[in-house]
Amino acid sequence: MRNAIDHLGRLTELRDRDLLDLSLLQSIRDLVRPLSVTLYRAAEGDPPRWGSRLKLVTQLLADQVGEAAPQVEFDGLPALDEHPARAQCLARGERQRVAGPPAWTGFPMMAGGRVVGVLETDTRYPLTREEAALITGMLQVFGNFQALLDYSERDTLTGLLNRKSFDTAFFKLLADGQGADPGIEERRRGQGRAVHWLGVIDIDHFKQVNDRHGHLIGDEVLLLVAQLMNSSFRVSDRLYRFGGEEFVVLLRGATEAEALQAFDRFRLAVQAFSMPQVGSITISAGVTQLRAGDTPSAAFERADRATYHAKNQGRNQVWSHEALVRQGSLQDDDKTGGVELF
Ligand code: GH3
Ligand code: MG
Ligand code: MG
Repeated sequence: MRNAIDHLGRLTELRDRDLLDLSLLQSIRDLVRPLSVTLYRAAEGDPPRWGSRLKLVTQLLADQVGEAAPQVEFDGLPALDEHPARAQCLARGERQRVAGPPAWTGFPMMAGGRVVGVLETDTRYPLTREEAALITGMLQVFGNFQALLDYSERDTLTGLLNRKSFDTAFFKLLADGQGADPGIEERRRGQGRAVHWLGVIDIDHFKQVNDRHGHLIGDEVLLLVAQLMNSSFRVSDRLYRFGGEEFVVLLRGATEAEALQAFDRFRLAVQAFSMPQVGSITISAGVTQLRAGDTPSAAFERADRATYHAKNQGRNQVWSHEALVRQGSLQDDDKTGGVELF
């Protein structure tokens, strides 16, 4: 069996966040042999709530080698107060125990000085002091490593993802199995197929904000817009600042109506918010559906053309590229051969 150092060596080779989390759980499973090990990540924004869950159940049958890689869940997560010890672990950043059986232990996951989640184990017997110390140590190294990754992948002003990690996320979303069975999504929603979307958001007349109030206030507006994005979009959506006052969202599994609704909800949230000194501002947005064979630049260009249309039509509005093509306002110079994905 690998020892802790081997595990850490393997862990820190990874860059993909989901794989990194999974690898952490696998390491702890191998080192401590719990009944199950689960990572709850907290969502951004207020009030505190769970954003995702990744659970690994130890396979007890000797003849069952290997297991399907568990997926990160975003939906149907328990409310924070459903498990008080877990909630306390998050709020206090301290280890918590519940006697059981099975014995439950929650470890705070820290990154960059913040509690970002809770890692918990169910074990037949309470963890020994050594086992608990081992997990705490693993989490410490993991947290430091994650803070380093954050530093390289996130925009320092807003904390949103930066452009660097966009292409990888884009291709991962395209290949993602969630859209591979449109039937289920379709039946559940009963209103068109659920696919993935890319949206471009651009602040209206942002130059005026800078000109009137100065760059510092302008920066504050960017930060507040990013916070509104965090509270308006879902945890499973990926939020980017592409530069300047331009933001990009990768939206998972939604129909066209849902995608437009998500961006319009954000548009209204921005309009309703009063920025210190500046007052109300607005945004324009354009969205497009991801297609088979799509490239980040082709999808971005489609969404950007829809944004441009929104600007031309008077700003403070959201358009989908597909709707504009349908109504003949835009031509679809498809670079992917017209194949729809999923
Ligand atoms: P439109 O409604 O057409 O989008 O008008 P706009 O003024 O927002 O568009 P434009 O792209 O002409 O201006 C964007 C401005 O954003 C230019 C620059 O002053 C400002 N800007 C870009 N990056 C930053 C930044 O990091 N901080 C601040 N404060 N301003 C920035
Ligand atoms: Mg702009
Ligand atoms: Mg602008």
